[in-house]
Amino acid sequence: MRAYKARGRFLKRQMMRRIPQDISGTAFDVIVIGAGINGACIARDAATRGLRVLLLDKGDLSCGTTSWSTRLIHGGLRYLEHGELGLVRESLRERETLLRIAPHLVRPLPLLLPIYEGARRGPLTIRAGMLAYDLLSPGKTLPRHRMLSRAEALQHTPVLEAKGLRGAALFHDAQVEYAERLVFENALSALRRGARILTYARVERLLSERGRVAGVEFTDLLGGGGRHTAHAPLVVNVAGPWVDEVLAGAGDAGGVEKLIGGTKGSHIVVASFPGAPETALYIEAQADARPFFIIPWDEKLLVGTTDEMFTGDLERVEAGTAEIEYLIGETNRAIPSARLTRASVLYAYAGVRPLPFIRAREEGGITRRHFIRESRFGGLFSIVGGKLTTSRSLSEQAVEMLFERLERRVPACTTARELLPGAATAAGEGFHAYAESFPSWSGLPAKSSSRLLKIYGTRAEEVCRLAAEHAELREPISEETGSIGAEVVFAFRHELAETLGDCLLRRTLVGLDSSAGTDAVESAARLSRKFLGWDKRRAACEVEDYLRYVERFHVKKTEARL
Ligand SMILES: Cc1cc2nc3c(=O)[nH]c(=O)nc-3n(C[C@H](O)[C@H](O)[C@H](O)COP(=O)(O)OP(=O)(O)OC[C@H]3O[C@@H](n4cnc5c(N)ncnc54)[C@H](O)[C@@H]3O)c2cc1C
Repeated sequence: MRAYKARGRFLKRQMMRRIPQDISGTAFDVIVIGAGINGACIARDAATRGLRVLLLDKGDLSCGTTSWSTRLIHGGLRYLEHGELGLVRESLRERETLLRIAPHLVRPLPLLLPIYEGARRGPLTIRAGMLAYDLLSPGKTLPRHRMLSRAEALQHTPVLEAKGLRGAALFHDAQVEYAERLVFENALSALRRGARILTYARVERLLSERGRVAGVEFTDLLGGGGRHTAHAPLVVNVAGPWVDEVLAGAGDAGGVEKLIGGTKGSHIVVASFPGAPETALYIEAQADARPFFIIPWDEKLLVGTTDEMFTGDLERVEAGTAEIEYLIGETNRAIPSARLTRASVLYAYAGVRPLPFIRAREEGGITRRHFIRESRFGGLFSIVGGKLTTSRSLSEQAVEMLFERLERRVPACTTARELLPGAATAAGEGFHAYAESFPSWSGLPAKSSSRLLKIYGTRAEEVCRLAAEHAELREPISEETGSIGAEVVFAFRHELAETLGDCLLRRTLVGLDSSAGTDAVESAARLSRKFLGWDKRRAACEVEDYLRYVERFHVKKTEARL
C-alpha cells in the first residue's frame, strides 16, 4: 500500500522508531498473536493478573472478523436447537457481565420473533426456546420474554408481513453497536496494566528452543518492513481465521491438523425507511429456514447474516451477489413496505467465523463453542472459535492455563468486576448518571455530545479537553454522525491509530456512516496535516488507500436483478 511506504518515509524523516528498541531484549511472559476481541481480552486479563504481555497484530486492532459481525451480545437462541445449553448459559452470563462493565458500549436490545404458518419453528418450539432462554439466565437484569398474539404483534410492529402471521415472541438480548470500541477498551485496559501493543506487526515465524516455544519473529509492516524478534515462554495464537497460517510458521511443531474451518457471513446496511421497525427482528428466512436479523443499528438498519464455507483469500472477504440478493429478498418478504433494491444498499460487509474445522457438516450446525488447543510444541496455545459475547470468559480460561504452564499460583480473575475504561467515572456516580450531565457541560451540539458518549463513554471528557484547544477541533468532520475534528487527533495521539483507516473505521467509527466514511476522509486528512504534522504526500496516500479499501463495501448497483 502506498500509505505504508509514505508512512515509512515520514518516520524516517522524523527520525522516529515505530518498534521500541528494547523489544527483543524484553522478557515477556506471553506473546498474544492477534488483536481481535479475543486477543485483546486475553491481553487485558493476563496483564491485569500481572503477566508481562506483548500483543501483536498484522493490521490494526479489530481489523479481522471482529469488525464484521452482527454486533450482538447474545445467548444465541439458535444454539438451543443444537443442544448447546452450556454455551447458551455461558453467553447469557457474559451478556450480563458486559452490560455491567461496558454500559456505554453494550446496551439492551429488544427483539421481536414473528411466527408464520408453515415455518420450521412453530409457536410451541418458540415458546419452549423462550422459556429455556429465561431459565438459563437466572437473576438477569433484562426483561423476561412475552408471547404476543397476531394482533399484538402487528400492533407492536405494523410493517410486518401480516399474511400467515400467527403471533410473535418479544424478548431481550444486547447489542454492541461498535464492537471495535470494545476491542479498543480491552486493549487500553491491558496497556494501562503494562502490556505492550504493536499493530501492523505481522508474525512470520515462531521461535523455539529445546522443543518449546521461545518467542516470535515479526515484520514491521509500517516502519519499512524490518524484521524483529520478541521472546516469551508462552505464545497464544488468537489469529481468528488465520490461526492455521500462524501455525504454518511453526513448522512441524505447530502440528499438521487443520484447526479452522471458517464460514463466511455477510451483512447489508440500508438506510432506515418510513415505518422501519424500531425493534430488532429475528426472522426465519423463507428460502432456507435459517433465522436472520434486521436490526436498527447506527441510525441505519443492519441485515444479516449468511453462513457458507469459506476457503478463499482471507485478505479480501466480500459479500457475494447471491448473499446480497438473499438478504434483500428476505427483508422484503418480512417487511413488504421496505421495497429494498440493490440501490437501497448503502454498503455490504462480510467476515469469516473462525470455527473449528469439521469435515462435511451443515454450516449452521458447526458449534459456536470455543476451544483452547495446546500444540505439541510446549507453550503454544491456539484459540479456535469464540464469540464477541464470550470473549471475556474465554480469556479467563486461557489465562488460567497460562499460569498453570508457568507453574505459578493463579491470581483471581477481576475482569468480570472491573469496569472498562470508558465506563469508569471519577466521582463513582455510574455511567448513566454521568451521561445525563455530560451534554450540558460539554459545550458541544447535542448530536456531537451524544455521539462522543456512545463512542468513548466517560473518556469523552478527554476528547472535549482536546477540542477546547482549537475551534477547528470542535467542528464536525461528518454531518451525518456529528463526529468532531478532535476525535481524529485523539485517535492518533491516544488510541493507537496508525492510518486513516484505523481512525475512521475502528476509532471514530465515522467509517460506518452511510458513505462508509468517504464524506469525512478529506477533512480527517486535512486535520492530520494541521495537527499531527503529516506531509502532503502522506495525507494524499492515506486518502487514496482509504478510498481504495472501502470500495470492497460498495455493492454494484448496475448488476441489479432486484
Ligand atoms: C458474520 C458474522 C457474524 C457474527 N456475529 C456475532 C454476534 O452477533 N455476536 C457474537 O458474539 N459473535 C459474532 N460473531 C463471531 C465473532 O465476531 C468472532 O468469533 C470473533 O470476532 C473472533 O474474534 P478473534 O479475536 O478470535 O478473531 P479476529 O477478530 O479475526 O482477530 C484475529 C486477528 O489476528 C490478526 N492476525 C492474523 N494473522 C496474524 C499474524 N500472522 N500476525 C499478527 N496478527 C495476525 C488479524 O489481523 C486479526 O486482527 C460473528 C462472526 C461473523 C463472521
